[in-house]
Amino acid sequence: MNARSPRVRFAPSPTGYLHVGGARTALFNWLYVRKYGGQFLLRIEDTDKARSTDESTRAIFEGLEWLGLGWDEPPVYQGANLERHRADADRMLANGAVYRCFCTPAELDVRRKEAEARKESFKYDRRCDRLSQAEIDAKLAAGTPHVLRFRVPEGTTEWDDLVHERIAFPNKDIEDFVVLRSDRTPIYNMAVVSDDIAMRITLVMRGDDHISNTPKQIMLYHALGAELPRFAHLPMIHGLDGKKLSKRHGATAVADYQHQGILPGAMLNFLALLGWSPGGDREVMTMAEMIELFSTDGLQKKAAVFDTKKLEWMNGQHLSRTPAAALAPLITPMLVAAGLATAADLERKHDWYFALLDLLKVRARTTDEIVHQARPYFTDDISYDPDAVAKQWKDAAATRDILAATRERLSHTTWEPAAMEEALRKLAEERGTTGGKIFQPLRVALTGLTVSPGIFDVLMMLGPDRALLRIESAERWLEHSAAGA
Ligand code: GLU
Repeated sequence: MNARSPRVRFAPSPTGYLHVGGARTALFNWLYVRKYGGQFLLRIEDTDKARSTDESTRAIFEGLEWLGLGWDEPPVYQGANLERHRADADRMLANGAVYRCFCTPAELDVRRKEAEARKESFKYDRRCDRLSQAEIDAKLAAGTPHVLRFRVPEGTTEWDDLVHERIAFPNKDIEDFVVLRSDRTPIYNMAVVSDDIAMRITLVMRGDDHISNTPKQIMLYHALGAELPRFAHLPMIHGLDGKKLSKRHGATAVADYQHQGILPGAMLNFLALLGWSPGGDREVMTMAEMIELFSTDGLQKKAAVFDTKKLEWMNGQHLSRTPAAALAPLITPMLVAAGLATAADLERKHDWYFALLDLLKVRARTTDEIVHQARPYFTDDISYDPDAVAKQWKDAAATRDILAATRERLSHTTWEPAAMEEALRKLAEERGTTGGKIFQPLRVALTGLTVSPGIFDVLMMLGPDRALLRIESAERWLEHSAAGA
């Protein structure tokens, strides 16, 4: 075990948005230090100048901030460390771990093709490692371009992965890899190891698509005389079809889910279960519970499945557990944007508004659904969902008749749930029908929707004036539809 205080990092390349896979990696690193102590660092791997953008860096910051995954030290920009990457490569040249290679890309290409023609896998044949000092000096004097290659030693490179346990790579399968290009820019593995050493990283936790880089990185640590970190390679995330998650499967940017009305807490909970299990069948957790339950023993090897239906379900679970006071700051701007209310209205009707949120949150999977379901309580201009009409208002004339009778009874009843229920159950009895046959058409009349809070809650939220007028409008609508049919 590493005796140093834990330092972990999330090291995204700023070449796009914050991907859900990246967010998952960030979360596991973050959970690790919240659980075991230490620092969570952020490193922007912007050495690929052609593909890295400031906009993408901003998207990464915003995504992490939205999720609440704060970093403990100022972000490190890999591109700013070029001089150190070079110095580390030169240090390995001085200590003999790397050598200069003057083979040109064209020459290597020819040799690769020849090997392929012989059906052999190509591996650099080390010819430049056999150059004499005089030959090297002559090429340098002539200004011949060259790269620096790592001399892979004999043996095996192995480590105890926190996820996969023992992983071993025979070194003979690894070619003498380049660490510095002829323009003296570092290759990915060189930059990462130089930075991880400088940042005193004790645990490298990242996607298992990096497993094949790890033996090379371990060799670089040894050559640079640095203490090895531990490694944890998290499973890949797949879509429901078992293929690596991609845009074909739907949204893969964290920001897309933010804009679809997913709560950060639900997103975090969902991401945490992609490659980790708290044990048992525990699924819905707050951040505090996840920190409490997190353990590297719970990390899983098998690919994780990204199921957006499950994310929506998870969001519904989190919504229903969120107090109205915490939901209001999210929902108010949405209601205002939808033209349903002003912030001042909602302030004035504070208690009613919070009661409404408490009723709606338990039936919604997203904040968008809350706003959709809230509509009938803010405007009389409601439309009847065709599915609801087809299902609950099959016979227009009969429905109109039952709604008229319902309205008549309600207009003579105290506006209080028990009294209203008694009156409507009595009506059902008189008509030889069930309560449901009265309540369901009434729900459509009041909300236009098939799903709503309990019918007496709806009546209470609307109040007598609004509810009775709305039943009347439904009757008129049915009259026209019956006449038209
Ligand atoms: N920039 C690499 C990536 O986004 C980071 C790999 C690592 O964590 O070492 O995959």
